[in-house]
Amino acid sequence: MDFSYTPEQEAFRARLRDWLETNASEVFGTNREALSSSATLAGDDERWHRVREWHRRLYQAGYLALHWPKEWGGAGAGLVEQAIYQDEALRLGLPLYGANQLAIDRIGPTIIFLGNDEQRRRYLPKMLTGEEIWCQGYSEPNAGSDLASLQTRAVIDGDDFVINGQKVWTSMAQRSDWQVLLVRTDPTAPKHRGISYLLVDMRSPGLTIRPLVQLTGEAGFNEVFYDNVRVPRKNLVGELNQGWQVSLATLMYERVSGGTRHPVERAIYELVELAKKIELNGTPAATHPYVRQRLAQFAIEARCLRLSRYRSLTAQLKGKVPGPEGSFGKLFATDLNLRVAMFAQELMGPHASLTRGSIGALDEGRWTHRALGARGLTIAAGSNEIQHNIIGERVLKLPKG
Ligand SMILES: Cc1cc2nc3c(=O)[nH]c(=O)nc-3n(C[C@H](O)[C@H](O)[C@H](O)COP(=O)(O)OP(=O)(O)OC[C@H]3O[C@@H](n4cnc5c(N)ncnc54)[C@H](O)[C@@H]3O)c2cc1C
Repeated sequence: MDFSYTPEQEAFRARLRDWLETNASEVFGTNREALSSSATLAGDDERWHRVREWHRRLYQAGYLALHWPKEWGGAGAGLVEQAIYQDEALRLGLPLYGANQLAIDRIGPTIIFLGNDEQRRRYLPKMLTGEEIWCQGYSEPNAGSDLASLQTRAVIDGDDFVINGQKVWTSMAQRSDWQVLLVRTDPTAPKHRGISYLLVDMRSPGLTIRPLVQLTGEAGFNEVFYDNVRVPRKNLVGELNQGWQVSLATLMYERVSGGTRHPVERAIYELVELAKKIELNGTPAATHPYVRQRLAQFAIEARCLRLSRYRSLTAQLKGKVPGPEGSFGKLFATDLNLRVAMFAQELMGPHASLTRGSIGALDEGRWTHRALGARGLTIAAGSNEIQHNIIGERVLKLPKG
């Protein structure tokens, strides 16, 4: 692995860092908390408003879609520049792709590479400007880890698909204008082969969105019901019944662009600041050996996470396609994030029960909010048990039990 950067790359980092720090302070304030998943961004009106403003600024500055080709409005930046952007944005705990995380991270690239020209012209520009926000309708009540069991049905009727069924846990559906939807178009085919990938207008008649309130008290995700929803056939991406391949491509872009990465380094930085503020036996918690060792261990693990990102980057720079080892980052980051949040609860003692808005809540109640939300991140985008399976079977090649 080569850790050195060219002078141009160092100059890019310096410019970017300066821009991010200045703009983040203006949009989110100086005492801001690390922002991560779209589910936590969408549930709160005030925060959502700021995230949209952040999106607008990222787009105007040319940092929003570094990984998109120039032809379609992106920066066409190299992998190292993309990695520098991720490092810097995560260091400050900023949402990587503004308000349209799924669109910029993976749906747009999927349409660029597997959609047709009409779809590219129609959808890509408004993803970039943030005029149209996108969500992802994959999971169903009986199809999560085993996604290929999905039952939402689409039947061709003239120039339309007619959709009936239900999705669940759809992050940001209540904020979205469009959705990518996996539907069953051939119930007689083996389950991976009868699925299609559609682009659905969230304002279609017959489509009902019901927000679900999470432990945090916010509604980040939703149930979505389809009752004879008509979707034009031209909204099919790729071939009919080949939606599984299209969705795999989407997942692959996610691995490259790192959309599910979490700003755990920022959370650890905030934890250190918390440990300086809290007193244990009359001295700051940060001076106690037990606390110091825990903080150091977290910092070491965050560093390992970063190094593992660089290892994947090196493999990609050598022309290798990102593979199942991407599961390691998802598993480790969300687990570390959860342990950091739980340790903050331990440090705060009785204060841990005070939520946002309560008198005496430390750091405006962010730690309690984070601890309540951290478990969800270990489930979203493929649960951590599933990531263990992928690592065991496909990376370590362990025999199946
Ligand atoms: C915050 C959040 C946001 C989300 N956003 C979206 C979204 O925008 N769009 C969307 O489509 N979905 C979304 N999801 C859904 C998410 O993808 C699913 O929750 C996840 O894939 C797990 O599926 P499930 O909930 O049906 O659990 P199940 O698959 O029923 O699993 C239940 C439990 O069994 C375990 N398990 C299942 N199979 C195995 C196995 N083979 N080996 C070992 N353990 C196993 C799981 O790990 C889990 O602990 C979101 C979820 C969360 C928490």
